[in-house]
Amino acid sequence: MAGKNAFEISFKKSQKAVTLDAAQQISINNEPLKVDPQLLFQRLTIAAQRFSDNLPDVFTYELCGVPSSLFGSDGLIMESQKWPLAEAIWNVGDCMHEENLDDKNYRYVLDGGSLLHQVPWKTGMLFSEIFESYVRYINNRYPNAVIVFDGYASGPSTKDTTHIRRTHGITGAKVYFTLSLPLSTKKETFLKNSENKQNFIFALAGELERNGFDVYHAQGDADVLIVKTALQIAEKSNVVIVGEDTDLQVIALYHIKSIHKTVVVKPAAKQTTSKVVRIWDIQKAKQVLGGQTRTLPVLHAISGCDTTSHIIGISKGAALKTFLKNEEVVNDACDFLSHSNKDVVIASGERILVALFGGLSVETLDVLRLRMFSQKVMSSTNYVQVKSLPPTSAAAKYHSLRTFFQVHEWVENGENLSPTEWGFELKDNKLMPQKTDRPAAPEKLLKMVKCKCKQHCDTKRCSCRKNGLECSAGCSGCRGISCTNVQKFSETDSDID
Ligand SMILES: [Zn+2]
Ligand SMILES: [Zn+2]
Ligand SMILES: [Zn+2]
Repeated sequence: MAGKNAFEISFKKSQKAVTLDAAQQISINNEPLKVDPQLLFQRLTIAAQRFSDNLPDVFTYELCGVPSSLFGSDGLIMESQKWPLAEAIWNVGDCMHEENLDDKNYRYVLDGGSLLHQVPWKTGMLFSEIFESYVRYINNRYPNAVIVFDGYASGPSTKDTTHIRRTHGITGAKVYFTLSLPLSTKKETFLKNSENKQNFIFALAGELERNGFDVYHAQGDADVLIVKTALQIAEKSNVVIVGEDTDLQVIALYHIKSIHKTVVVKPAAKQTTSKVVRIWDIQKAKQVLGGQTRTLPVLHAISGCDTTSHIIGISKGAALKTFLKNEEVVNDACDFLSHSNKDVVIASGERILVALFGGLSVETLDVLRLRMFSQKVMSSTNYVQVKSLPPTSAAAKYHSLRTFFQVHEWVENGENLSPTEWGFELKDNKLMPQKTDRPAAPEKLLKMVKCKCKQHCDTKRCSCRKNGLECSAGCSGCRGISCTNVQKFSETDSDID
């Protein structure tokens, strides 16, 4: 895309995710305005600096089609890397399990989702052979294992966006299978269809139970059930949780108590590179983190997980440091663990985010946005990237609500929360994150970013020219091509994360 006019960049319909549904689109006087988010931001801020006497108010708007530090240009939440949190905890102190796992009497609890990936399937294999290879795989490595599977219900789920991202909105064909039928597609294609996946899991679970393994099925995401199952075993014997997901460490650290025996978390994948395989002793890790294990789920969710957005500018490692040294942040985080009302959650969430962005405790996100914008303008030669600014309060609010919802799924304090009350909305039978409840910009400014000239935009009657802005593809008449009020456009959208 480099070197192309941002307005000319378009994608074939087939390359778009199904949910694109005008995610970025804003409208002015009910006319849709399709523009590159960074270009829109530049036009709005230039117009604001020239014509608004209230910049602080202007920065309470995102100045962009979607809150761009939280959402990608596809309108989906920004994807999170979760492992940096595990790495950061690992680096705080010694969390390593030292003993040889083969020597002692350990029981194993397997993350079924990870297990599915561990065993290769070949096209043409009979389903009975696929099941046998799973039984062999577990027998060889994890005698006495308990296997816990995710549930793939057909209803809406807070993981819908993650699912859409993974499958690019393509569901995959439904496959009817029996033991004596061969696999006629690729494993990935088969598993893309969640009905196939659920049916396969039920059939595999039956095979595993016939071979003496205990199997549990979670309603949705299995992580909490995996940890609960392991901790129940850990009341009497040492236990190893086998799985890759960082959520497992976070949930185990939160729930483990001193009465529990050794609880180990280790990845299922074999060591293939020189990368160190981390075998976690959760009791030791709890010592390392001390009192902070309690707020760990809040830190994990607010800095981005499967159901909450990654926030550009906030890393999990830096967030952990903030949580370890900033008592006010920890106090605010505790509001996410109790039966708090929404106003408390929103206010505490905003204070935590300000702290994670390195703001002052007296600042709001909106104030911090303007301050960071001004500082960047002073220090940078390129135009400030809209996504490098903190989200507005209006967008952060929903992020905090989703954080609260996710934390409560993990800590299970018995409340039955409805996702649509906590930052999600139902769209086409899917739970999508609510983005903000404010328009993209003040109406006065939005009107300045486009003209409606039928002619050449060569007089002051052209609102673009009058406001000192070049015409663009957003202009309804000239489209920024057929007029005199346009110069060559230079590429401004560079990657900053
Ligand atoms: Zn014009
Ligand atoms: Zn024009
Ligand atoms: Zn124009």
